[in-house]
Amino acid sequence: MKKPELTDLGWLGPRDEMDRASHRFGRCSECYEIICVEKAVTSERLLEAFRKHSDLAHIEAAKPSPKQILSVRCPTCGAKPGEKCELSTGLPRTNPHRDRRLIAKD
Ligand SMILES: [Zn+2]
Ligand SMILES: [Zn+2]
Repeated sequence: MKKPELTDLGWLGPRDEMDRASHRFGRCSECYEIICVEKAVTSERLLEAFRKHSDLAHIEAAKPSPKQILSVRCPTCGAKPGEKCELSTGLPRTNPHRDRRLIAKD
């Protein structure tokens, strides 16, 4: 998946009257949702709002499901597909190893 970007940046409202209800807006390249921030003089706050949207709507959603993770072999502890990751003591880990989660993404 390609990273969502903020596109079509614009400004709604009178540019010279920042105390009025003006909006800075942009659009997410991935889902075309409009992100807008009221009275944002700089684009910094808009970018921040967009990062939150992107994390929530796209990055989180792109995470592999537990089923996907279990379908690959763990490169860290060698757990076979279908088996849970193990601690060095041989007990199952609550969470799969990081590397396993990463390769499950593909
Ligand atoms: Zn989006
Ligand atoms: Zn593991």
